[in-house]
Amino acid sequence: MNGIVVVGAGQAGFQLGASLRESGYAGPVTLVGEEPGLPYGRPPLSKAYMLGKTDAPGLSLRPEAYFAEHRLIVRAGERAVAIDRAARRLRLASGEALAYDHLVLATGSRNRPLPVPGAGLAGVYQLRTLAEADALKAALAGARAVAVVGAGFIGLEFAAICAQKGISITVIEGLDRPLGRSVSSTMAALIEASHVASGTRFLFGSAVAGLVGPDRVRAVALADGREVAADLVLVGIGVLPNDDLAKAAALRVENGIAVDAMLATADPAISAIGDCASFPSVHADGARVRIESVQNAVDGARCVATRLTGRPAAFTAVPWFWSDQGPLKLQIAGLCQPHDLAVRRGDPEQGGVSVFCYRGGRLAGVESLNRPADHMIARRLLQAGRSPMPDQAADPGFDIKALALS
Ligand code: FAD
Repeated sequence: MNGIVVVGAGQAGFQLGASLRESGYAGPVTLVGEEPGLPYGRPPLSKAYMLGKTDAPGLSLRPEAYFAEHRLIVRAGERAVAIDRAARRLRLASGEALAYDHLVLATGSRNRPLPVPGAGLAGVYQLRTLAEADALKAALAGARAVAVVGAGFIGLEFAAICAQKGISITVIEGLDRPLGRSVSSTMAALIEASHVASGTRFLFGSAVAGLVGPDRVRAVALADGREVAADLVLVGIGVLPNDDLAKAAALRVENGIAVDAMLATADPAISAIGDCASFPSVHADGARVRIESVQNAVDGARCVATRLTGRPAAFTAVPWFWSDQGPLKLQIAGLCQPHDLAVRRGDPEQGGVSVFCYRGGRLAGVESLNRPADHMIARRLLQAGRSPMPDQAADPGFDIKALALS
């Protein structure tokens, strides 16, 4: 028995190993990960870790002893370079080949590069790995003026930290609002207002033409000729799925490694999970989605582990996500984009607000800002396929919890 080999020892890869053991799988499990060290969680990199509230060991998904106890072999610092599908072997950069009965691709995603002159200057950072977080954190300690390119989750989380530290912070965004791909315009406006109140300056509709050096960055040049002075720049313009291995092995790639509703590729011996995989989702009316979240990585891994231990089922877990930005705790349940109707429940001035998003007359998802109870209710509603009427969702007197529990 060759066992199960996983490419990628991140959130999804780790969870697959853990879930295989929970499901009673007794064969060999090997996680091949190109990063050094044990599998760790990324969310704190732009939150508690960046603030110095947790250290590197605190990021580990499990202590070292766990891997030995559960017979999970972690080949850290090893890059997988090719899949020989006919021979069912995975080739590593070291030249070694690992034979597998089943291969799971959990390769995650990588930072989208900023395609402008000066992107490689000293003082310009991206944030995906622990190594990148360490470099950024060290630079932040001496920074006086920070510019963030991209008003996505990571950019906004980092901006909130800069504001908390009293560092001048400008967020430059090509669209006309923050989180353009991720939240409703109603929620985006609330988030923007909170960041502005904390001292963050936004430049919307602004394209970056280049980063100005000569050696260290001193400014961001905008396409309209303006310059934004900055001695530290964080580029947070999204990620690209790591699907090259799959592509080279002639597996189908469509905004990530294309898998079916069970997260299986067309090769019966290969599955894909986490950030790198795109799959048809019941929460998007069957449309193919690729989701970058801890929940998607964890629940996808559980789904595949269950299938590989003889209980196949489609991946239908309700997607959910969170982002902490200074005083804001944003939680999203479901897939809100696109939606054709959004109604508010609650009041940001009185604790928090949720935005209920509807698509085709049904609840598609709920965005909650500092209203964690709504988030939990939304997850239950979506799991059960229940949809409050929009006027019920907006009515503070309507018992939405009772509907979720009914
Ligand atoms: P990863 O955890 O990225 O793991 C993939 C691993 O595969 C990597 O270690 C990579 O090096 C390795 N790899 C790739 N190719 C190869 C190869 N050929 N050979 C060997 N190894 C390879 N999500 C949330 O839900 N909430 C949050 O608040 C949140 N905050 C985040 C903050 C930051 C700073 C970042 C970067 C992400 C955040 N996310 C958050 C997203 C979340 O961390 C990811 O969605 C999740 O890690 C995806 O898990 P994964 O296993 O698919 O990928």
